[in-house]
Amino acid sequence: MSDTKYALVLNSGSSSIKFQVLDPAADSTEPPFVSGIVEKIGEPKGHIKIQTETSKMEDTRPLLSHSVGLERAFGMMSLLGVGPQDLDLVAVGHRVVHGGPTFSGPVVIDDKVVEDIRDLIPLAPLHNPAHIDGIENARALLPGVPHVAVFDTSFFSTLPDKAAFYALDKDVATEHNIRRYGFHGTSHEYISAQVPGLLGKEPEDVNQITLHLGNGASAAAVRGGVAVDTSMGLTPLAGLVMGTRCGDIDPSIIFHLKRSAGMGVDDIDNLLNRKSGLKGLSGVNDFRELKEMIDNGDENAKLAYDVYIYQLRRFVGSYMLNLGRLDAISFTAGVGENAAQVRADAMAGLENFGIVMDAERNANRDVDGPFEISASDSAVKVFVVPTNEELAIARYAVKLAEQE
Ligand code: AMP
Repeated sequence: MSDTKYALVLNSGSSSIKFQVLDPAADSTEPPFVSGIVEKIGEPKGHIKIQTETSKMEDTRPLLSHSVGLERAFGMMSLLGVGPQDLDLVAVGHRVVHGGPTFSGPVVIDDKVVEDIRDLIPLAPLHNPAHIDGIENARALLPGVPHVAVFDTSFFSTLPDKAAFYALDKDVATEHNIRRYGFHGTSHEYISAQVPGLLGKEPEDVNQITLHLGNGASAAAVRGGVAVDTSMGLTPLAGLVMGTRCGDIDPSIIFHLKRSAGMGVDDIDNLLNRKSGLKGLSGVNDFRELKEMIDNGDENAKLAYDVYIYQLRRFVGSYMLNLGRLDAISFTAGVGENAAQVRADAMAGLENFGIVMDAERNANRDVDGPFEISASDSAVKVFVVPTNEELAIARYAVKLAEQE
């Protein structure tokens, strides 16, 4: 094989494992060297798909567990000549959703780190158990390679207390680690780090808002490279309207559902996380379908869209005030990078605040990298900056592995 230093990046969910093998030094627009997914773990029919630039392999045998899935995926990669052993991996990066108050940056994983991530399960009951599973299986299969955990929360460990604290009984909040943690931090950090270069300014001189709009969605305010606010909270349910998550709601709605509808905690959790947001209002969570429904005159779809945009503008407005002087706003992720109409509607009528969009630039995506969508005379620059969380994780993983 070549001298390229490859990293394996793993994103382990409750019934799936997504992974990529990539060169951390590569350009962000380059496709990963290998990408794959192991899904339907525990279901009668499993599914593994491995893809390289020149080959593809699939398997649909049942997958009893995550470890069976990962081992089989590695075996399939070997058959394609791109197995972890063939590639001489430098590091394995693991995406971990919740780092709680414990982790303010990526760390090389040892047994203590695994236990610390386990201790955070009450804060992320859906995510952290799957991450621990992924970490333990991968460490067992690849014992000679440093494993690094990269946390979705850590970019927001810099939030000032006034932004991080909820106005709750302080003792109760402290005992149960309740505060605003923020999520999508790897993405917000990755795209916000590119903006000073686009503006020709030093990072410490740039005040910016980053909008990660995918199936999950969040906004962040970043002052001089440091995160000062985020729309997400204790969990990734807070803030913006998302594909299936409600975003900010009056917490009393939960008590009302319990008392009036007789719903249990798990039912309400499911309702707010999986049956709300765009899906709750319109029946679909994908923006492409939503747009089609709107074009066909569906009123629920139009309402869902309007609520989404309205909530997004609420956060942008509050961050503009918070930052005082704003230099740039960036859109990223599936919706942010592809839905020009969302960007246009989110930024409409803000000329008095120094935001002037250029309709043509916004409509034409002719480059893979970042591009400006504001007018040349706009005081606040507006960009589309494609995110690449896997690449960001790979870069961290290799950096920390090399410091070992
Ligand atoms: P992500 O979570 O970043 O992968 O984003 C996924 C979401 O991006 C999907 O659910 C769609 O709503 C949205 N999306 C992806 N491609 C497009 C597109 N071409 N136009 C509009 N929305 C898109």
